[in-house]
Amino acid sequence: MFFRRGKKPKEKPEAKIIIPDGLWLKCESCGEILYKKELERNLWTCAKCNFHFRIPARRYIALLLDEGKLDEFPLALKTRNVLGFPRYSEKLKEAQQKSKLEEGVIAGRARLGGETVVFVATDFGFMGGSMGSVVGEMVAHSIRHARKEEIPLVILTASGGGARMQEGIFSLMQMAKTSAELALLAQASIPYITVLTHPTMAGVMASFASLGDIIIAEPGALLGFTGPRVIEQTIGQKLPPGFQRSEFLLEHGLIDMVVHRRDLRSTLIRILKILMIKK
Ligand SMILES: [Zn+2]
Repeated sequence: MFFRRGKKPKEKPEAKIIIPDGLWLKCESCGEILYKKELERNLWTCAKCNFHFRIPARRYIALLLDEGKLDEFPLALKTRNVLGFPRYSEKLKEAQQKSKLEEGVIAGRARLGGETVVFVATDFGFMGGSMGSVVGEMVAHSIRHARKEEIPLVILTASGGGARMQEGIFSLMQMAKTSAELALLAQASIPYITVLTHPTMAGVMASFASLGDIIIAEPGALLGFTGPRVIEQTIGQKLPPGFQRSEFLLEHGLIDMVVHRRDLRSTLIRILKILMIKK
């Protein structure tokens, strides 16, 4: 279904985050007018309807990790337009300028409740958090690092773009590569926890995002392979309400927990403490 992605209708307006300059902001979901400072205090979640606004990877790092610190792995590879895909080089540059990131992923070593972990976060602000060769290699490198050091792995995803179409098969290969590395991690009995945020779709969801030993999701996140509108068009049927949203997927057993952003850090620490009890 990858080839359909190009034709996929745009996401629902509610999924967009538009932050105008100024003190007030309208909730994309319930329409409530929110005081920006208070919204920030609420970790960018609506106090009225619980809508979770999208936040960049760096904000999650500040929010989740001990002292908000990540000892980053250097990005050893540079993304290139290997297929000569039209306008890809320009798009990359634009994404770099806009997101102030070199690529759509940040990874490194960190502490979580005192436990050393490898932490990875994809950033929606960089080409939809899509996985090209460099993102895939960074994820694979992080998994290898966790295995070598025998420390748990935590990956947070915000990847509406799935595999990066501008890199074609090279991008799809990252799905197999990251999944194979995770199989080795599982064989070594090293815990792997994923935190899925809105939206995590397509090639990312169909590889490392859905392979966590424990899968946590933020409330209301859209998580799946092909988006609901394309599925409806393809099968010619209406989908049930809440389809592919966190709560629906919890009910159907695809994920393990739905956790409010304010409780993410304490939940991760609690899980790590249970999993890392030394024999
Ligand atoms: Zn709201």
